[in-house]
Amino acid sequence: MKAQVLKQIVKLDENPKPLELVDAVVPIPGSKQILVKVLACGICHTELDEVEGRITPKLPVILGHEIVGKVEKSGSNANKFGLGDRVGVAWINSACGECYFCKRGNENLCSQFQATGCDVDGGYAEYVVVSEDFAYLIPRSFTDLNAAPLLCAGAIGWRALKLTGIEDGETLALYGFGASAHIVLQIVKSKFPNSKVFVFTRSKRDPPSQLAEEEGADWLGVTGEEPPGKYNKAIDTTPVGMTVMHALRNLEKGGRLVMNLIRKETPIPELDYVKHLWQEKEVKSVANVTRKDVQEFLSLAAEIPIAAEVNEFKLEQANDALIALKKGRYRGAGVLRIG
Ligand SMILES: [Zn+2]
Ligand SMILES: [Zn+2]
Repeated sequence: MKAQVLKQIVKLDENPKPLELVDAVVPIPGSKQILVKVLACGICHTELDEVEGRITPKLPVILGHEIVGKVEKSGSNANKFGLGDRVGVAWINSACGECYFCKRGNENLCSQFQATGCDVDGGYAEYVVVSEDFAYLIPRSFTDLNAAPLLCAGAIGWRALKLTGIEDGETLALYGFGASAHIVLQIVKSKFPNSKVFVFTRSKRDPPSQLAEEEGADWLGVTGEEPPGKYNKAIDTTPVGMTVMHALRNLEKGGRLVMNLIRKETPIPELDYVKHLWQEKEVKSVANVTRKDVQEFLSLAAEIPIAAEVNEFKLEQANDALIALKKGRYRGAGVLRIG
């Protein structure tokens, strides 16, 4: 099978071609696993963190954790899906199922948590294997390409939004408007119709802010700019540490900032207790996703329905796609069309 493989950690500014297209052996499903023929795989910001070493994947690794494909073969004890069923695979690849966190439904915090396309091979390839317990039927209403970003950008966006505890009528700020935030805005407009959404991006009239405007953002600005009022909840998806300070400065009393990202690329500046934290402001991070988040979100996405803006790349163009993501060259989500 064709696969894009990361063999070593690089700095993308110095080496813009970190992935190597190779001819790899098609994996064989274990007894409770399924072999999935990959049709599409989303491109996530986490892949930049893996390539540049801010998180440490196994090496060599096939990246990709927003996988849509068809079940091609089932292991001897795998019977949840039929051949040809269209399934999705997300960042959560396995968890122990027995620890304190797993027993409370927080399998995302399990110390044995394994991530797709990081601890085990993912979807930048023509085939992938996964436990049948960590695959999900994809609603029929979505195309392969439109479904892919739902599996991480969408599911983790949903988790982040739940963690804010937002109620209808409260104002939400979105710092960064990439694949995840553009889905969150659609959820808020549907589920919390009386809430206002303020969107902060890197620069005025950049492609993300144009998309935010089209999707009905109530106010647009550049990070650091003063919004028209305080907001009750905020979600930060930017890789920049400075954003945390700006997001907290304009947070309403008793408000909550949720940081939806796996690593910051630059340090968070020193915070001033009175300006940034006092008056019962809260800060919370998001780690990984649970199977429940993915299941809930796939149903919600079909019901709303969520329309992910997709930028299509071929498997052969995976390196270009990563660079385009890093430079913020496209709006919405990048997706590899495979097979
Ligand atoms: Zn992701
Ligand atoms: Zn566990």
